[in-house]
Amino acid sequence: STWWDNVQMGPPDVILGITEAYKRDTDPKKVNLGVGAYRDDEGKPFVLPSVRKAEEIVFKKCLNHEYAPIGGEAAYTEAVAKLAFGADSPVLKEKSNCTVQTLSGTGALRLGFEFITKHYAKNKEVWLPSPTWGNHPQICNTLGLPHKKYRYYDPKTHGFDLQGALEDICNIPEGSIILLHACAHNPTGVDPRPNDWKQLSQAIKEKKLYPFFDMAYQGFATGSVDNDAFAVRLFVKEGHQVTLAQSFAKNMGLYGERAGALTFLCGDAESAAKVMSQVKIMIRTMYSNPPLFGARIVQEILNNPEIEKQWLVDVKHMADRIISMRKQLRAGIEGAGNKRSWQHVTDQIGMFCYTGLKPEEVERLTKEFHIYLTKDGRISVAGISSKNVNYVAESIHKVTS
Ligand code: PMP
Repeated sequence: STWWDNVQMGPPDVILGITEAYKRDTDPKKVNLGVGAYRDDEGKPFVLPSVRKAEEIVFKKCLNHEYAPIGGEAAYTEAVAKLAFGADSPVLKEKSNCTVQTLSGTGALRLGFEFITKHYAKNKEVWLPSPTWGNHPQICNTLGLPHKKYRYYDPKTHGFDLQGALEDICNIPEGSIILLHACAHNPTGVDPRPNDWKQLSQAIKEKKLYPFFDMAYQGFATGSVDNDAFAVRLFVKEGHQVTLAQSFAKNMGLYGERAGALTFLCGDAESAAKVMSQVKIMIRTMYSNPPLFGARIVQEILNNPEIEKQWLVDVKHMADRIISMRKQLRAGIEGAGNKRSWQHVTDQIGMFCYTGLKPEEVERLTKEFHIYLTKDGRISVAGISSKNVNYVAESIHKVTS
């Protein structure tokens, strides 16, 4: 017997399970469309040229390895807040933001929700879009934070269900928390349009809901970091005190370095200082202080105009490759004479495409064609390259006709 006789085997992570099955497959035609990480046109992980440059500069500085402050370096938190809210944002001038470095986007969500669990005085209930990233409900479950769904994706149009979302929002109890994907919604690739965001902002304000933005893909949707921050900046302009989780995993390709941030907008500097004091206590007891290396790279990129310029080019390059693969995939399926509509492939944005493939079609793609993706029909467009796009298109055509 052991101390752990009582422990049951937990289910494996869905996405990691797909990658393992892909690795075991020996067919040379195999394609992995499950991974949520950018790949270059050779199917390889991509280190951004701006990141390489920043690495060199950081290395040459011969920095020490002392602890970072509990909430991260100010040069980091100030730069990332500027990137999200805009350099001329009044909230930053007023210092009404409480921004801390976190362990990437997941760490920001976990810390943010944990803070809500402990300190939020209104209706402690989180409303998530349907569908949403699987880790959102899991984090809430871990914290014992109740979560419910509002309508988001319309399977009929493969687009955003504005009417459904507005109707559901009108029935959410006042003071609840509403989670919004700032851009490049995961898993659907479907984002509200600017006018939709205006209506959402209005409805959320009327219902006195607390907006919590998850921004894991700033720059990945349109190729412009400012365009992709539209929703967050609109909400702030309209007076919402938003909370924001940021990640530099995707837009800087810093997946394993765990560089992210959590911001609470608090209305005024005094409230921000109080919130900061409690956030620090929470961090101190969880992991004490954040890792340095990824944050140093981010800081170097954002605070050095020349490298920042290169970074904006790098982000656009990644977004453009994805957009081009969407076009080629759609053209390939349609060119094969497929009868279904595939317009959503090019309408949707960001890393993912919700293809609308049914579970049995997904199964055939994997079993007969060695193409790996999640059962919900989500594909990572970053896994498509000029070498495999025709094969993927033909295979999708075959399982859907
Ligand atoms: N939110 C969403 C919607 C995501 O898709 C991801 C990445 N899969 C994250 C947050 C966080 O990722 P990370 O912790 O690597 O920054």
